[in-house]
This record gives sequence, C-alpha cells and structure tokens, in this order.
Amino acid sequence: MQASTFERLESEVRSYIRSFPAVFCQAAGSWMVDETDRRYLDFFAGAGTLNYGHNHPILKEKLLAYLATDGIVHGLDMATCAKRDFLETFEQLILKPRKLDYKIQFTGPTGTNAVEAALKLARQVKGRATVISFTNAFHGCTAGSVAMTGARKFREAMGTPLTNTRFMPFANYYGEEASTLAMIDKQLSDPSGGTDKPAAVLVETVQGEGGINVASAAWLKGLEALCRKHDMLLIVDDIQMGCGRTGTFFSFEEAGITPDIVTLSKSLSGYGLPMAIVLLKPELDIWEPSAHNGTFRGNNAAFVTATAALREFWSNDSFAKEVQDKGRKLQASLEHMARRHAVVQQVRGRGMVAGLVMQSSEQADDISAACFRQGLIIETCGPQGEVVKLLPALTISPNELEQGLGILDAALASCSSAASVQLAREAIE
Ligand code: PLP
Repeated sequence: MQASTFERLESEVRSYIRSFPAVFCQAAGSWMVDETDRRYLDFFAGAGTLNYGHNHPILKEKLLAYLATDGIVHGLDMATCAKRDFLETFEQLILKPRKLDYKIQFTGPTGTNAVEAALKLARQVKGRATVISFTNAFHGCTAGSVAMTGARKFREAMGTPLTNTRFMPFANYYGEEASTLAMIDKQLSDPSGGTDKPAAVLVETVQGEGGINVASAAWLKGLEALCRKHDMLLIVDDIQMGCGRTGTFFSFEEAGITPDIVTLSKSLSGYGLPMAIVLLKPELDIWEPSAHNGTFRGNNAAFVTATAALREFWSNDSFAKEVQDKGRKLQASLEHMARRHAVVQQVRGRGMVAGLVMQSSEQADDISAACFRQGLIIETCGPQGEVVKLLPALTISPNELEQGLGILDAALASCSSAASVQLAREAIE
C-alpha cells in the first residue's frame, strides 16, 4: 500500500484506514476497487451509510441531473426545491403509511449532530438535565453524545467530566434471566435510589458499535411503558439501524412503539452524502428559531439522493420484504457456520446486521485481516472488539452474499484450527 502520504500527513486519529490498508478509488454496488484494480466485496457498507450500495445507478442519475441544472448544492437552511421534495416524499412514503406524526429538524450533517439536538430538545422540554443511556451504547463523539456513549476509549478522549448521564443496563446485560427493565424501574421508583429524575431515555434498538446487542420487541415495548410511567421522553437513535437495516424503515416498527424523538443519519441520503435529521412529536417543537443552528444543514445534493432512495425503495413494502427474507437467510447461514467453528461463541443479529462473537478481540481482528487478504471488507465491534460485524448493503445479491460468507467461513476455519493447535500446545506444556 502506498500509505506514506497518509502516515506523513494525516493525524494519528485515523482509524478504518488502519484496518483496511488499500487506497480505494472506485466503487459500485457491493464492490470497492483499489488503485491497483483489486476488487473487494464490501460487508461494511461505509459503517452503515450505504444500505443501497455504492453509487446506486438511479440515485447517481438523479444527482448528476440535478448538478447539471446548477441545482443548489449548499443552501444553509433556506427553502429549496430539493428540500421541499425531500420533506414531502418523507411525509408521503415514510410517515403517513406508518401513521407517524413528526416534525423534521435538519441538523448538522453527521449522526452526532442529530443526537446533540435530540438531547438538547429533551432537556428543554422536561426542564431536567439527566438522560438515561445504556451500557455499550454508542451515540457519537461530540460532547453531549459521547457522554451518552459507554466506551472508555471515546469518553477519555474528551478530557473533561462527562455529566448528566445515567447509565443503565441494556437488554440482557446481566443474562437472559435478569430483567434489566425491572432494575431500572426500581431505581427510578426509589426516591432514595440516587437517580435524579431523568428528562429522557436514549436507546438503540440494536447496539451497533456496542456488539450487535439486540433488544427484543418486548423489551422495547417495556421501555416505552417505563418512559410513560416515569414521565421521560423516549429517544430512539436509529442512525445505524434505521433506513431498512433491520428489515423495516425504522428499526422500532417491529416493536410497535412510538418514540417521542428519533435520530436518523448514515443511510438517509442513500448515497453516502452527509445528512442527518431529528424527528420530533409536534408538541415537543419548542425550539426558538435558530436556537440550534449550523451552517451545513442544507446539503441539497443529499436531499436529492435521499428523495430518490425513498422513491426507489420505500414506495411499497416489497423492498422491506426482500430485506427481511435476505436477513433470515443471512442469520441462518451464520448459525450454521457457528455450529461448525468452535471459535464462534454466539451469533447475534436482526435483519441485515449480524455479529459473530469470538473468543477474543485478537481472533476477531485476525478474522477481519484474513478476510481482507481474500478481498472481503468486514469490521469488528463490541466492548473488547471481539465481535465480527456483518453490515452488507441491503441490495447485495444472493451470489455476492454467498461469496462473502464463503470467505468468512474459510477465515473461521483457519482461526479454529489455529485455536486448537494453541490449545494442544498449552495441554502439552
Ligand atoms: N448513533 C449511532 C447509533 C451510531 O452508530 C453512530 C455512528 O456510528 C452515531 C450515532 C454517530 O454518527 P456520526 O459518526 O455520523 O457522528
């Protein structure tokens, strides 16, 4: 890899570039191509920003046509034709069919901007500072969001005390038998429990960075009931699991809950262009004009591709059914794989997101590196980095999925035999 330019000039903070040492130049669908023309199958999809694959031809066509007419590319938060199209399409194709009544706030274009806005709003509405977050949560790296994030690595980087968060155990944190909802309820109900009355609860339905920890529909329903009981707003962070990842547009649909506030970003533009929004119940819209401002709230190129993506994939439920079907096959293949490779401790997932829990972070890193050598891009996640994370494009073809799973299977086989050699050595010594 010709990495010297990056090593010489780019900050040490760089991350994914270290896991996938190639210089990428082109991409289409589920494939990325590096500068030596080597092709890689992408099971990471830009960390979940490319649910419809790289450079989807229909989205590209709309974008190119828009640019060709000198359509506004940046427009602050002024009214534009592209923004109106997006708003109307989102209302028509996403909100109305789901009987959801939300207003839409455009925030700065990354996920953490949306989380910051959601937190500020919840605190304003309730006049309270504390927000409940969960063990292993990830919500972003700016001050407010990182305070809601569990991982020490991100928290310590802040260099200041992170306040106004109360961490509670996520679903199954203490195993399947222990009801974490009952624990939270007891804490909140006890006037001497040490928890200031919270303004809100911030939750991912499936914790992506935290290890593909799946909350059941029943747990989410129970959490919603807890929010109502203790007068807390329910904020669902659907930045990674939304836009179809779990098989429905919003990941909370299956649970039949209605969050007060929802954050969306990542795959919303459908093209990898930065865009983020907050959905809020109309009665919560107590913002003073420009109280939460930002220069880049009008990425009109993103509005154009987002609108095209909604029309292409969400005009009816056929895409969702396809994703659900593909997701079931993916989870079944992984279960089958896990039975054959002792190094896999557990398979986790819902829809088109899955995690293989390995015995150690070293094993997970080895798997990711071995897959990369064979032309498959796959990341790790989890509290120790011990989970191999599958996040392919929702549009991936059955053949491509099978090809990638084949590479993963071979990597697991060699990891398993390395692990048994190691065990045998330890037994002899
Ligand atoms: N929330 C969740 C659930 C995420 O997965 C992420 C990013 O991975 C974020 C928030 C932060 O988004 P961004 O990295 O765009 O700031």
